[in-house]
Amino acid sequence: MRDNSIYHGYEVGPIRPPSEAYSLLLRVERGCSWNRCKFCAFYRAERFSVRPLEHLKKDIDELKLWVDVIQGKIRKTPHTESEYEAYSVASTFYRGGMESVFFQDGNSLVLKPKDMVELLEYLNAAFPEIKRITTYARSDMIARVPDEYLKRYAELKFNRFHVGMESGNDEVLKLVNKGTDKETQIKAGKKAMKAGIEVSEFYMPGLGGKEYANQSAIDSADAINQINPDFVRIRSFALAKELDLYEDYQNGVFTRTNDIDDIKETRTFISHLDGIDSIVESDHILNILLELRGKMPEDKERMLHTIDAFLALPEETQMVFRLGRRIGMFSQMSELNNKMAVRRVEEIIKANHITDENIDSISSELMVNAIPIQVKPD
Ligand code: SF4
Repeated sequence: MRDNSIYHGYEVGPIRPPSEAYSLLLRVERGCSWNRCKFCAFYRAERFSVRPLEHLKKDIDELKLWVDVIQGKIRKTPHTESEYEAYSVASTFYRGGMESVFFQDGNSLVLKPKDMVELLEYLNAAFPEIKRITTYARSDMIARVPDEYLKRYAELKFNRFHVGMESGNDEVLKLVNKGTDKETQIKAGKKAMKAGIEVSEFYMPGLGGKEYANQSAIDSADAINQINPDFVRIRSFALAKELDLYEDYQNGVFTRTNDIDDIKETRTFISHLDGIDSIVESDHILNILLELRGKMPEDKERMLHTIDAFLALPEETQMVFRLGRRIGMFSQMSELNNKMAVRRVEEIIKANHITDENIDSISSELMVNAIPIQVKPD
């Protein structure tokens, strides 16, 4: 086990949102302080710890050094694994214009507000060109940070929270052990926005199984309508064997949805969005329809039309597209016009005996393989 009092060099956590691909990654804490959501195994292998402020400052110094090397101000070559990691992150950050930083892992708001302010001041001094500092944030943690600190965070460019709302339905939130409820999600979202922090809310079709799909969509849209966040991000649920929810699935407590169910759920969700001016994004690898993006309210009808166009396709064509998406051959429905690509997917379907009987389980398996899963060590 790692000794948290000793500095082990720069380190990165396992995940970041797709929108933070060019962000400087700073691992404020290891793992997740909650770590009990039944649909998440990202940090199962990680014993939770908040990294000491002094170690975080050393990480910033290390990253600054490699940015200076990349800019030709200093001559140095990375030697250790940690130095290569820092060099690689610094170089991606540099290529992205040095505008954004992402705090890892699951919920960096666990850092004491006073320490967070000191960290932000240090980071801003090292990289004054930064425009945006973001993190994953649990609603219950946002609710706990005093308003004056949230305002100070925003002033120090800590100005976007990615909040895993997942569902606005309390039954679903209980079923998956999210550890928060709809009311807290709404309060936290509004509170962060009032402090001047951009809020990006994640919605997860499929999380309520077949039973709750419809109500989860309606209640989630209602929560979003009350928050009116800057961004709404759709991220489909994948049922991996490593998840606690898989046990519920085996025991008949949870029923797995398929791609078509999730698309229909997403349609209900979008159709109930009302009175907001959020940007809707569907940029997650697990989503079938990546072209579902737009600004509310003007793009709502177009997004619904996109879903309807998919649902109107013959079942065999839907299957070609689903498989093509899952194996990375398609990213947009318009690619169904590419006859060569369609023929190639049809050959794969034939060679692997994929039928309407087994497409759901094959698609589900391919989804699981597309995301990193960490399991508890023996
Ligand atoms: S979903 Fe978020 S809060 Fe829940 S266990 Fe995973 S990282 Fe922690």
